[in-house]
Amino acid sequence: MPIYEYECQECKVRFEVLQGINEGNEGVSCPKCDAKAPKRLMSMFGSSGSSSSSCSPGAFT
Ligand SMILES: [Zn+2]
Repeated sequence: MPIYEYECQECKVRFEVLQGINEGNEGVSCPKCDAKAPKRLMSMFGSSGSSSSSCSPGAFT
């Protein structure tokens, strides 16, 4: 399940939401001011493939 990053259009706070790929921003509200329908930002899952984690190389096993 992908993580989407949202930005509240009211207070501009950014937060991440774990939700299904078919879900929109209708059910998402700002954790700070509770405003509805925040703006979805670019996904964490970039297509460049350069976002490999540096914590533990070879952790795929
Ligand atoms: Zn807000």
